[in-house]
Amino acid sequence: MAQSVKGMRDLFGTELRWFQHIEETARRVFERHGYGEIRTPILEELEVFKRSVGESSDIVNKEMYQFTDKGGREVVMRPENTAGVVRAAIQHKLLTSSDPVLFYYIGPQFRYERMQAGRYRQFYQIGAESFGVATPEAEAESLLMLHSFFTELGLKHLLFSINSVGTPESRPGFHAAFRAFFAERADRFCEDCHRRIETNPLRVLDCKIETCQAALEGHPVITDHLDEASAKHHARLKALLTELGLPFEENSRLVRGLDYYTRTAFEVLSADLGAQSALLGGGRYDGLVKLLGGPDVPAFGWAIGLDRLAMVLQQVHGDVPHTPPALLIPLGVRAATEALKLARTLWDAGVALQVETRGGALKKAMTSANRTGVQTVLILGDGELDAGTVTVKHMATGEQEAWPLGEVVARLVKS
Ligand code: AMP
Repeated sequence: MAQSVKGMRDLFGTELRWFQHIEETARRVFERHGYGEIRTPILEELEVFKRSVGESSDIVNKEMYQFTDKGGREVVMRPENTAGVVRAAIQHKLLTSSDPVLFYYIGPQFRYERMQAGRYRQFYQIGAESFGVATPEAEAESLLMLHSFFTELGLKHLLFSINSVGTPESRPGFHAAFRAFFAERADRFCEDCHRRIETNPLRVLDCKIETCQAALEGHPVITDHLDEASAKHHARLKALLTELGLPFEENSRLVRGLDYYTRTAFEVLSADLGAQSALLGGGRYDGLVKLLGGPDVPAFGWAIGLDRLAMVLQQVHGDVPHTPPALLIPLGVRAATEALKLARTLWDAGVALQVETRGGALKKAMTSANRTGVQTVLILGDGELDAGTVTVKHMATGEQEAWPLGEVVARLVKS
C-alpha cells in the first residue's frame, strides 16, 4: 500500500479543523489591521534563498529541497516565505513609493529536516511582513495584531520576549567584547559555537546545547553596546508595550543571526502548555530588501508555525467547536425525490445538512447518525409526505416531533 512521503502528512479531521479555524482567524484579524494576503510560488530560484537566508545557515546548507528542473534551472521548494515575499515585492515594484506595504501569507514550507516530534518536512507557516516603516510604533502595531490573533484563538498567558540586535554598524563593539568573553571559556563551548564565534558570533547566544547556555552566564549584553538611535528605538518600543499593556520580558540571548536583521528581535511565549514555549519568532530586517536587489526599504515581520499552533490549541481546547450537519433520511422512492427537493431549499437557506442517499433501512442510517454525532435527524417517509410533515428527532434527548413541511426551513435556520 502506498504511504505518504516521509515527513509529509495528510491533514483531515480535528487537526485540519484547527488549521482552518486558525487560518480564518488570521485572515479576519490581519485584514482588520490593513494587511493584504500575498501568495508566492512554492518553487523559487536557488539564488533567492542563498542570498537571503544565507549559505552559512542550516536551512540552506542541509535542509533544502533543491533540484534542477527540466530547463536546467536550479530551483528550491521554499523553506520559508519571507524571501519569496521580498522577491515578489521587488519584482512587481510594490516598494517604490514611500507608502507602507503590509502583507500576510499562509502556506506550506519545505525543509529536509531530521525527523522528530512536531517537525515535518512539509509544514505550514502564517506570517506577516510590513515594509516601509522603520519606527517602533510599526512594531508595536504588529505585536498588537499578534496579541489579538492569539487572544481570539483562546490562548492566554502570552509573553512577548524581546531584544535588540543593533545594526551592522554598531555590532563590531559588541562582537569584540563577546569574543573576549568567549575566549576566556572557549573550552566550555561546543564545536558549532567555535565555528559561530568566527562567522556569526550572535548565533552562539541561541545555541540549543545546555552546556553552552550555562557557559554564557554573565555574557556581555548587546543592548549595552547599541548605537544611540538603536538604543532610543529599543526604549521607545518598551515604553509602547508598557503603555499598551502587552506583557513582555527582555531576553538578552534572543537573536536573529543574519546581518540583515537590525534592532528588534522577538518571540511570543505561551504558558498554556505548562512549560513556556515559543509560538513564533520575528524581527526587524531592514537590510533584506536591498540585499535582494530592491530599494533600501525597512521591514519588520514574523512567522508562526501553524502545525505547532494547531497542536497547542488542540491540547488546550480539544476539538474546534463545531456541529455536524443535520441528517435527512428519506424512506422509500417517493420520499427520496422529495428529500432532495427539501434539502435543496435548506441548503439554499444556508442550513448544514446531509442527505442519506444510500437508501435502505432506517436503523442503519440512525446508527451512522449516532456514530458521527449528528444532533438533528429529519425523517421523511410516505406517512409524513401524506400528512405534509417531517419527523424530527433530537438526538441528545431522544425527543421526537412532527414539523409541518412548510416550517422546516424557518425552524432549522433559527436553530
Ligand atoms: P523559523 O522559520 O525556523 O524561524 O520557524 C518559524 C516557526 O516555524 C517555528 O517556530 C516552528 O513552529 C515552525 N517550524 C519550523 N520548522 C518546522 C518544521 N520542520 N516542522 C514544523 N514546524 C516548523
